[in-house]
Amino acid sequence: MDFGYTPKVEDLRNRLRNFIDQHILPRVRQYNDEVNAGMFPVSFMEDLKALARSEGLWNLFLPHLEEDAPGTGLTNLEYAPLAEIMGRISWASEVFNCNAPDTGNMELLHMFATPAQRAQWLEPLLDGRIRSAFAMTEPDVASSDATNITTLIQRDGDDYVINGRKWFITNAAHPNCTLLIVMGKTDPDAATHQQQSMILVPRDTPGVEVVRNITVMNHHAPEGHCEIVFRQVRVPAGNLLGEAGSGFQLAQARLGPGRIHHCMRSIGAAELALELMTERAQERQAFGKYLHQHGVVAEWIAKSRIEIEQARLLVLKTAWMIDKLGAKAARKEIAMIKALVPSVHTTVCDRAIQTFGAMGLSPDTPLADHWTWGRALRFADGPDEVHLHSIANMEIRESRKTLGASAAYLTTPQRL
Ligand SMILES: Cc1cc2nc3c(=O)[nH]c(=O)nc-3n(C[C@H](O)[C@H](O)[C@H](O)COP(=O)(O)OP(=O)(O)OC[C@H]3O[C@@H](n4cnc5c(N)ncnc54)[C@H](O)[C@@H]3O)c2cc1C
Repeated sequence: MDFGYTPKVEDLRNRLRNFIDQHILPRVRQYNDEVNAGMFPVSFMEDLKALARSEGLWNLFLPHLEEDAPGTGLTNLEYAPLAEIMGRISWASEVFNCNAPDTGNMELLHMFATPAQRAQWLEPLLDGRIRSAFAMTEPDVASSDATNITTLIQRDGDDYVINGRKWFITNAAHPNCTLLIVMGKTDPDAATHQQQSMILVPRDTPGVEVVRNITVMNHHAPEGHCEIVFRQVRVPAGNLLGEAGSGFQLAQARLGPGRIHHCMRSIGAAELALELMTERAQERQAFGKYLHQHGVVAEWIAKSRIEIEQARLLVLKTAWMIDKLGAKAARKEIAMIKALVPSVHTTVCDRAIQTFGAMGLSPDTPLADHWTWGRALRFADGPDEVHLHSIANMEIRESRKTLGASAAYLTTPQRL
């Protein structure tokens, strides 16, 4: 077993870190100022994207391109450490065209779109000319159980007509967001997992109303987590993605690699929080000692290091399993990282905030933003409890195959 990164990955890690140090870090303050002044996308984003593209740091997430252009794509295991580096700055991924939810949407289109759909939507997404959103969650039903979704996608002649209300739809406030991938029911009478379909809806279609950009813990995200109403939204039947009734299957296919990306970005954020905390603890003194000389702060540093290392190893193992065996075989691991990593992310950020004192809550560190996003990730792509539930189910199913096999280890006295 080799825990090192290959020379190819080391080279990409170095180039990515250099790019971020030279071109992104010096612009963090300007990004914040422009977003706070209501300017979005910020003035320099397109220039940075062009530069990243010219340096070959573009669409790094897309292992599937391997089929189209052998030798160009990265495996999930190769991409994971790059996502970690991008995760240190909340908006850096977009510079490399590697941000969610566009990445998951591009993967979906790459796997399931027709040639015409690819030309209309995938190519401009791969070029970074447009942005997209994925619209599944609804305010009126428990959406962690996607069989509850009520939005209707009804066939009417050569069209489909969509009616429903979605919320927390990430990216929908981005001015370049022109595509919504909407999940709804095409056949409410079919078997439970064959009722849903996905359909491609241009955001400017009449009847699509972005009602509001919902703040997350009072934090305004310029790209948006939006509430959207669909009233008699009519699109051509050719906009259906995949087969009618295949919505669940498509949703499953979209999620595996996306969870690796989210989790590795989280690990990047946690790693940065630990670095900041460790430096701060060596700079400030309270009650006659540096903060790290207080046992409790030393323990926070040590526990954070242990938790980050554990989490990173599990995510890398999961990436390796997806590459070798496919996302289906890695279902339990994918659920495990999703249930684990956002908590590690928030716990480490929380300790760093505490170490910084009140400054940790101010906009002068990235900690408050990173904490908020880590907390949000405990819901996005499904709440922790759903993943814990499926992990337990898989364990029970496995155990049933050999039920009683561990009885020999029990030393319970025989009852007379
Ligand atoms: C910042 C952010 C961005 C998001 N972006 C998107 C997006 O782009 N597109 C999109 O479609 N959605 C998005 N979401 C929505 C997210 O996917 C949903 O919030 C999530 O799936 C949970 O659905 P719900 O909010 O309806 O919670 P509910 O389904 O109402 O669940 C509420 C609670 O019930 C409990 N629960 C549910 N199931 C179980 C179970 N099996 N066992 C035990 N307890 C359980 C959990 O504690 C859960 O938190 C985003 C959410 C956030 C916070």
